[in-house]
Amino acid sequence: MSFDRVIVLDWSAAGKPTMGKDSIWIGIATPTGTTAENIATRHAAEKRLAALIAQSLDTGESLLLACDFAFGAPQGLARRITGETHALALWDWLAARVTDTPKNVTNYRDVAAEMNRHFPGQGPFWGNGMKLETADLPKLKPEPPEGLAVFRQAELAGHENHLKPKTLWQLAGAGAVGAQTLTGIPMLHRLRAMHPGRIAVWPLEPTDTAPVVIAEAYLSMLKAEVAAAVIEGMVTDEAQVRLHAQAFLRLALDGGLSRLMAPDQPPEVLRSEGWYLGAGCAAALQVPLVPPRLRNDCFAMPQGVEWVPVEEALARLRSVLRPVTECTSVPLVQALGLVLAEDTRALRSNPPQPNSAVDGYGFAHAATGAGICQLPLLNGRSAAGQPFVGQVPMGHAIRILTGAVLPKGVDTVVLEEDCAIGNGVIAFDGPIRPRANTRRAGEDIVAGDIALRRGHHLRAPDIAFLAATGVHTARAYRRLRVGVLSTGDEIVTAHAAPHQIYDANRPMLLALAKGWGFDAVDLGHVRDATDLIRNRLDAAATATDVILTSGGASAGDEDHVSRLLCAEGTLSSWRIAMKPGRPLALALWHGVPVFGLPGNPVAALTCALIFARPALWALSGAGWAEPQRVTLPSAFQKDKKAGRREYLRARTTGDGRVEVFSSEGSGRISGLSWATGLVELPDHAMTIVPGDPVQFLPYSGLGLF
Ligand code: AMP
Ligand code: MG
Repeated sequence: MSFDRVIVLDWSAAGKPTMGKDSIWIGIATPTGTTAENIATRHAAEKRLAALIAQSLDTGESLLLACDFAFGAPQGLARRITGETHALALWDWLAARVTDTPKNVTNYRDVAAEMNRHFPGQGPFWGNGMKLETADLPKLKPEPPEGLAVFRQAELAGHENHLKPKTLWQLAGAGAVGAQTLTGIPMLHRLRAMHPGRIAVWPLEPTDTAPVVIAEAYLSMLKAEVAAAVIEGMVTDEAQVRLHAQAFLRLALDGGLSRLMAPDQPPEVLRSEGWYLGAGCAAALQVPLVPPRLRNDCFAMPQGVEWVPVEEALARLRSVLRPVTECTSVPLVQALGLVLAEDTRALRSNPPQPNSAVDGYGFAHAATGAGICQLPLLNGRSAAGQPFVGQVPMGHAIRILTGAVLPKGVDTVVLEEDCAIGNGVIAFDGPIRPRANTRRAGEDIVAGDIALRRGHHLRAPDIAFLAATGVHTARAYRRLRVGVLSTGDEIVTAHAAPHQIYDANRPMLLALAKGWGFDAVDLGHVRDATDLIRNRLDAAATATDVILTSGGASAGDEDHVSRLLCAEGTLSSWRIAMKPGRPLALALWHGVPVFGLPGNPVAALTCALIFARPALWALSGAGWAEPQRVTLPSAFQKDKKAGRREYLRARTTGDGRVEVFSSEGSGRISGLSWATGLVELPDHAMTIVPGDPVQFLPYSGLGLF
């Protein structure tokens, strides 16, 4: 079976609305990402699931909903209670009896007691965390009735994976699954009834033709992965639903799920007891959850192409590159520069409650009107963090300070500067606008709404925004590791002999990568020798996600980088119709993309800014990055040839025009430093005279400061 979407439900039988640990969590995995939601009540969760199911059915998407409670009981219960062996008969029976309120008040204990009464002597269900006794529901574990097993076959199979089996009969205490089952089954029964024939419950009925399949899951199957994924401030349940949803989706997409859905068990066991996905084969789920690598031929250029226009080269890169790093949970304080791996929702509204925007006096607007308004001042005040707890009577005012929650009876605030105060009365000149000087609850963002989208590059203001909405951890892509390698026999880092030159590219590219928010990995310098370059690339391939080399990228005698990539990597030498630059070697080395930049520092920087930057953005998860372009009048003149795009070192003048560096010599590094951006001249021929509009790409718009 294959599914487009997997939802994992961590259910709860809590007796009151609950958030956080041991409450209801939903993990949703699609091929584009995973999200988690925490829901306070069973009613709200049922509504949310119904909406998700309807959405899948509407869009024609197949859906697996995996729930962490038992769908059946040890053989014998269904027959004793309903006269039939099929677990779905028990579903009908339970759905007709178990009640639940919007406040999570449920009668499942009474229903368990009723089932117990179907047995001669004591029945199987036990456990009651309430002070109040329930008749026929013992608090302590009784002897199970004759012929009724303690565990289902699925639990026994799972035992082989060192998963501690849990018994359905236990309704209270650590790890009790019974209460979740008794409250969960009626909910699923209702969902299933909403779309007859389109939702199938595995393995209780055939699932082949149903677009939505509900199955049982046991969310302790990925213990190690969950433990590794949970970081400070994160609830384990959240990691559980996320990782199990991801694992099931991966299995759904690679065909492994079909095996899990065909356990080697007699059909009557499956139909009366149910089964959980992966029982007895937990290892199937435990595969590292890393994104797939790039395709080996992803940089291939069509044969026979001489010069590739810049635009086409960019379009090709854009179409093959995608995020290559794993998704991690990161404390917000460490998330600067990271890229969100999923849409991130506000966990609470901002502001959470209506409050005052100024220091002044609050009252009900209805008691005011035009002309002088006088309101008696109540004792007490409402300050930020020190709310006034009572009610402000109609026609009275109360002292209120900026950020203070509006007390009951207050909807409007008048500025203290606009008031006269004396004899326990405030007076001001009306009318005043209703809700003046107040902030609505959720006026900034409402809990549950998406605060920031997947792919967002986190900056300081974004961190403030998420923090204000109660988000402590971000789901972000691991920081991209960008390796930088210099090549060339003439290049040294210190004590240059007359025939040698200092390495300018490596410090430049490392600084660029770092400034762009990536992990810059210094791969050093190697001489122009194939073996040396190969060894360095081999080592780099495990320590980096992408490699930038400079030098040796053309097709000359000493161009060892392109020769090696061609012989042993999957090189595609892109001859780009661009000045400066031209040879750009693109290859995969053990699956890691390599950008072979020209050795010339001017060309290396230009290629890095125009090609590597958007490519690294795409690899990091932030999506393709276009440079910022502004049109400015030129302060220079130039005759430009046809057939290639040109980039000139440029900067703006005091009067808002753009001038270019005195020399176009590609060895003039001083010009890179002199410039504050690049002028981009189009592929066709053109004559530019002072005053003509030209495209200026400021360094700042290329992430260069
Ligand atoms: P190549 O691309 O190896 O033919 O080098 C082109 C020009 O760039 C040559 O003049 C090199 O000396 C120079 N060059 C190569 N690598 C660097 C580097 N890391 N720093 C400064 N100049 C370099
Ligand atoms: Mg060289």
